[in-house]
Amino acid sequence: MADFADTASEIEQECLQQALQNRAQFSAHSHFECDECGEEIPEQRRAIGGVTHCIECQTKLEAKQKHFR
Ligand SMILES: [Zn+2]
Repeated sequence: MADFADTASEIEQECLQQALQNRAQFSAHSHFECDECGEEIPEQRRAIGGVTHCIECQTKLEAKQKHFR
C-alpha cells in the first residue's frame, strides 16, 4: 500500500514539473517588435507569450498557412 502511494505522488510531481516547464517555454518568447514588419507589438499581446508577430502580420501568416494546405 505504501509503495502504491509513493508511485502516485512521484507521477504527480513529474506532471507538475512538466507543466511548469511547458509554461516557462510558452511565456519565454515574446518579441518586443514584430519579426515581419518591425512594428512594436502591443504589451497586451506580448503578455500572451510566444508572440513574434503583430496582429496584422500574424493574421496574414495564418491566412498563408491555410492557403498552402
Ligand atoms: Zn508586423
